[in-house]
Amino acid sequence: MEKIVEVNDLTKTFYTKDGEMRVLDHINFYVEQGEIFSLLGPSGSGKSTILNILTKLIEPTEGNVVINGTIGYMFQRDHLLDWRTIMDNITIGLEILKRKDQASLDRIERLLKTYGLWDFKDMYPKELSGGMRQRVALIRTLSVDPDILLLDEPFSALDYQTRLMVNDDIYKIIKNEHKTALLVTHDISEAIAMSDRIAVLSKRPATIKCEHEIHFENIQGEKTPFECRKMPEFQQYFDILWKEIDNYDIG
Ligand code: ADP
Ligand code: MG
Repeated sequence: MEKIVEVNDLTKTFYTKDGEMRVLDHINFYVEQGEIFSLLGPSGSGKSTILNILTKLIEPTEGNVVINGTIGYMFQRDHLLDWRTIMDNITIGLEILKRKDQASLDRIERLLKTYGLWDFKDMYPKELSGGMRQRVALIRTLSVDPDILLLDEPFSALDYQTRLMVNDDIYKIIKNEHKTALLVTHDISEAIAMSDRIAVLSKRPATIKCEHEIHFENIQGEKTPFECRKMPEFQQYFDILWKEIDNYDIG
């Protein structure tokens, strides 16, 4: 499989008025074409910093990243603009890139129809539920047809029930559209339900503690994150990851 992302010996130290702080310490991982790969780590472990380096928002201190393709970035908050309709929110990336061509508009129309949002295209964000807004945000990210999706805790602002539903929605969209995704999360269950492979980050300065491939033997037909949560392996993975993750004891 082609590696879309390669992260080699990545180290990041921030220099602030209070001194220097090492956030990432020789991080290595890759993301293969078609997989959902998760970085699981406690708050403050440097997950967003890794994504910011991948998008070139910030520079690494040491090491390098290789990205074979274009990036779409989806954030924790949906960042929809209140004064633009759903359609105008979705096409904003194309407008910025000056790529609002017919092929792109056709792709957006297909995505909106497939994922149940076409009837809402002329509405405004405040008229939609939190879950629908996250679907809109993902379709906006997909509108420029990126090769890899970077998802920075995209479910954490949603309440629990909505989060379970949106896990399924987003998973289905990523897999149906044959996208590759790098998900960062502090939520063990979400990582297991969503991922093909998980790497566990230690607390700061973050290192990769271990990696796991996630398999569910007895799922018939198409897998959904919700179904995974009911499988016997789910609890086994949870117990393993629970011991590996540094449990929120950073002060
Ligand atoms: P996570 O996304 O895992 O919660 P972050 O990558 O946001 O963690 O942050 C890791 C640590 O780096 C935090 O302690 C944060 O305060 C610090 N940090 C992040 N960005 C900067 C910056 N630009 N300058 C200084 N410190 C930063
Ligand atoms: Mg973060």
